[in-house]
Amino acid sequence: MISHAEVQAALSARIDGEEAGLDKAVVDAHLAHCPECASFWERSLALSRSLSFVEADGSMSPPEDLSDVIYAGVETEFRKLASRRLLGLSIGRVILGVLAVLYIVWAGQLVAGSGGADMDPEMASLLIGAAAVRVGIAAALLLVAWKPNQIPGVLLIVGAMFGFTIGFAVLDAVSGEATAPWLHLGMLLFTSAALVFMWVADRGPSNPLRTLSAGPQ
Ligand SMILES: [Zn+2]
Repeated sequence: MISHAEVQAALSARIDGEEAGLDKAVVDAHLAHCPECASFWERSLALSRSLSFVEADGSMSPPEDLSDVIYAGVETEFRKLASRRLLGLSIGRVILGVLAVLYIVWAGQLVAGSGGADMDPEMASLLIGAAAVRVGIAAALLLVAWKPNQIPGVLLIVGAMFGFTIGFAVLDAVSGEATAPWLHLGMLLFTSAALVFMWVADRGPSNPLRTLSAGPQ
């Protein structure tokens, strides 16, 4: 007759992958008819499973190399981040492309407006100049859609234009000379926001390549 303690010692050894010292058939036969040891076996199995890599039959199967498992998990995270970054960049490119088209349409309207027969030549050249600036912005937006690392320079120009425009709009509003150029301001503000979005999508903290290069190997 074997004791519960002997059986439970044998079961522990089985989980640890060691020699049990008892015949497996004898231990299993006892287990089948002893609620106490069966309960011990279930608890031990559950504990081992939660701690590591125990197969359903209780035998251990540690991975060949634990670092492989860790790297596989980390790599999945990185791949998720990388695909999120690509999605952000794609959305940013579409927005910047649409904005570039809008600026070109805007420039076209300014040029068309300068062609009136009763147009003051000085005013006409101002309109042409304004149209040229908008074509320049469109070109810059297309450039940074392709090369997001150029965004800070373009953002500086668009931001400065927004600042000047809002400054003049406030002056005009105070003197009551003109209505504020809401469309103009809105376009510049939205363009700045789109540039910031693109910048973050390209360089944000979720850029896995930067995280990788900062870590060991
Ligand atoms: Zn027992």
